[in-house]
Amino acid sequence: MNSLSILGSTGSIGRSTLDVVAAFPDRFRVVALAAGRSIEKLAEQVARHRPRLVAVERAEDVSRLERLLPAEAACRVVSGLEGLDEAACHSDADTVVGGLVGALGLRSALAAIGCGKRLTLANKEPLVVAGKLVLAEAARTGAEIIPVDSEHSAIHQALRSGRTGEARRLVLTASGGPFRERRLETFDAITVDDALAHPTWKMGPKITIDSATMMNKGLEVIEAHFLFGLPGDRIDVVIHPQSYVHSFVEFVDGSLVAQLARNDMKFPIVYALCYPDRIPNDFGRLDPVALGRLDFFDVEPRRYPALALARQALAAGGGMPAILNAANEVAVAAFLEGKIPFPDVVNVVSESMETVGGTPAPDTLEEAESVDRRGREAASAIVRRRAPAVAGPA
Ligand code: MG
Repeated sequence: MNSLSILGSTGSIGRSTLDVVAAFPDRFRVVALAAGRSIEKLAEQVARHRPRLVAVERAEDVSRLERLLPAEAACRVVSGLEGLDEAACHSDADTVVGGLVGALGLRSALAAIGCGKRLTLANKEPLVVAGKLVLAEAARTGAEIIPVDSEHSAIHQALRSGRTGEARRLVLTASGGPFRERRLETFDAITVDDALAHPTWKMGPKITIDSATMMNKGLEVIEAHFLFGLPGDRIDVVIHPQSYVHSFVEFVDGSLVAQLARNDMKFPIVYALCYPDRIPNDFGRLDPVALGRLDFFDVEPRRYPALALARQALAAGGGMPAILNAANEVAVAAFLEGKIPFPDVVNVVSESMETVGGTPAPDTLEEAESVDRRGREAASAIVRRRAPAVAGPA
């Protein structure tokens, strides 16, 4: 029995993880859940999965959640950062599922790794913001990090075809998002709804915008560098609109090993939870004949400037990936709120990187939070300066 603590249980990864748990009641049990403010949804999850501990973001939601729980739930409800740390280090948990977005993702990943838990990591921030620190902490405690991001899961699987040092390059696939064929001259007119219409994956709004700009793939290049130890110039990206090949590894002998599966996060989740085993499931199968064809294209740099920007941040090293990530969060939020046009998302990030400049790689959570804050402040100031331009006449 694998006992899980699921951080971010009401988000997209958390819900898919609970679907996997529900499909294998003899294999997994839930000992802790952590979520933000979706208290009703959380109450349903607690009633169904019966964790011993639940962490919520705000203290005032503790009693609200308790009132919604059945009397026999027998679960302790905690709140705030300490509550989250408690869920990340629950003594009964073997595996911690890291599905929290933003800065909390880093804090809770470090807490889980610090306690030596296996971390199945779905959010990119911990490695992008503080890859060096996260890896050092994992080396210290012996904690394993198994990626859940579909591309990194594919690479993790493909790498098992060779020994360490035999991979020549990693090739991440990208869907190209909704604007792969849109005329570049019309990018200023892209609406929030246009950008949220992802062709192949159903995900939250932040990551969907990131896949429209391809910042998502840029963050994944950085994530892959830390997970698999290859330099950025040996991590390539190709567009693959069907999103069935989740990534490739090219080995030194010229073999290209790919992983394919249906576009459903349950596949990388069940792989990460069960690794090194594989278990039979009924999550659906990919039929090569039904696929018919698979297409691959180069990434046009002018269409997706975010990718080069992320590579630039990785090459600069130190705190620059953290600044890229922080500024991007602010810029995406500003676009979603209608404050800046779509092409400015990447412009705001680029300007923020220039404004903050070079900083050393964070060695502690506090340093990581401080670099993150500087990236956010720089980006917020740039958004404020640009925002009136699209507010229009009163
Ligand atoms: Mg991905």
